[in-house]
Amino acid sequence: MRQDLACAACGQQRAAGLCETCGYRRRTEVLVMEGGLVAATWAADLTDAADAAAVTDRVRESLAADISKIQGEFMAMVEPGELDATSVLAFAALQAVEAAEAVRRACPRQAGTATAVPQRAPLPASA
Ligand SMILES: [Zn+2]
Repeated sequence: MRQDLACAACGQQRAAGLCETCGYRRRTEVLVMEGGLVAATWAADLTDAADAAAVTDRVRESLAADISKIQGEFMAMVEPGELDATSVLAFAALQAVEAAEAVRRACPRQAGTATAVPQRAPLPASA
């Protein structure tokens, strides 16, 4: 049974191959990477690897700031011990990156300058 497979990333048992938390983390990583690449295509001289890398780094820093901000907001909304904090924080990070990506898609030339707007999405059920 697929449900019986442990998480390939963290080893959590009965995670169907990938647990909730690692699933959020993977999607977040992919979005951060894509966001950096998209910003670089708009903003950087692609023949200049250092310039492209600088743009990508700026996007990563911007997203990291969004992530820590929204994680703080999520943790302020939950009672200590109420939910699995690891899962909540991974979900919050994904929300922050998705919000930033939505802004970037709407206005690609502003890449890296947009501020993520936190979504009041329902919290994930505790695993
Ligand atoms: Zn996992």
